[in-house]
Amino acid sequence: MWENWSNYCTTKQKSSKQDQEIMSVLVYTESLKGKFKKNAFEAASYAHKVAQDLGTTVTAVSFNAEDDASLGTYGVSKVLRVSDGSLATFNAKAYAEVLAEAAKAEGAKVIILSSSADSKFLAPILTAKLTAGYVPNVVAAPESTSPFVVKRTAFSNKGFAMTEISSDVKIIGVSSNAFGVAENNISASVEDFGPSLSDKAFAVKSVEVDRVVGKATIADADIVVSGGRGLKGPENWGMVEELADVLGAATACSKPVSDMGWRPHSEHVGQTGKPVASNLYIAIGISGAIQHLAGINASKVKVVINNDPEAPFFKAADYGIVGDAFEVVPELIEKLKEFKAQNT
Ligand code: FAD
Repeated sequence: MWENWSNYCTTKQKSSKQDQEIMSVLVYTESLKGKFKKNAFEAASYAHKVAQDLGTTVTAVSFNAEDDASLGTYGVSKVLRVSDGSLATFNAKAYAEVLAEAAKAEGAKVIILSSSADSKFLAPILTAKLTAGYVPNVVAAPESTSPFVVKRTAFSNKGFAMTEISSDVKIIGVSSNAFGVAENNISASVEDFGPSLSDKAFAVKSVEVDRVVGKATIADADIVVSGGRGLKGPENWGMVEELADVLGAATACSKPVSDMGWRPHSEHVGQTGKPVASNLYIAIGISGAIQHLAGINASKVKVVINNDPEAPFFKAADYGIVGDAFEVVPELIEKLKEFKAQNT
């Protein structure tokens, strides 16, 4: 069954040259305000595994990060540090230009990105610059490196596709929380890297970023607590936020909830909203429509609280509580607080 499925899904990207000499594996390590994001460590860990398979080393490119040498913990042996105020905020075209220059300088034939919104934004630009083959949403180390075959999610996370990349330069977008962060302690050298950027790279740039502060973001969170129309109104979100606080989680919601203005659009998850690939996803008063599930399927453990035992979400869940959210959630918060008090 699996063989048929993978044969069916195997995608062959256009081949030109194959099995060429691979220099270092290049990884783009994302950071925010000088601090590396978790996905940077996961991408570096993945790059280390690919480099091991290919018998080479990992070179990272960092943008205005504070602790470049820390990437050695995840198997990076060289960091190309870009310190440039004009790149303080993410700029897809400019970042892609830097990465393309770094790939050429290092002779890198394999480039590892995350599957964050930023990486997915810059990946096609980088792909075009390097005439590369790009595969996003990759969930495991390459099945083989000759031919170069990776496993990625398909059909809104309902299946997998074994995908062969046979272009000379290969770009891989690693799914969040799929490969995981692995420590491979080595000492990383850090070099300044400052290619001259064309004016065209800054034709579009962010002039101001208004970011929610002090809360875990959906993209980076290990745990996401999400509310749906079953919560009846925005005035009832206090318990969702409290549960999220106790768990150190990010808050999210279904589409109708953000459409009705109960919650900001930045919290809308699903097929037309943000994707969630957390370790734990708790859905409260959400029915489990396919468009919602499409965006959260990649989460590892799904817990559902719903008063309708026939709610479709129960079929997709790992754990389910049939009950009234207004009774279950406060009780859950109390129990978690007690547990934390006893265990800290
Ligand atoms: P409902 O379907 O109204 O479900 C509410 C649930 O709460 C019910 O299961 C009910 O049993 C339960 N409930 C009620 N009271 C309680 C209580 N007291 N305690 C516990 N449970 C209770 N939706 C998304 O979420 N994300 C998307 O990205 C998305 N994209 C879409 C794209 C398209 C093209 C289309 C057509 C639809 C899309 N939708 C999306 C909408 C989707 O089809 C559903 O309509 C939506 O997910 C339903 O939201 P809900 O589960 O919050 O509400």
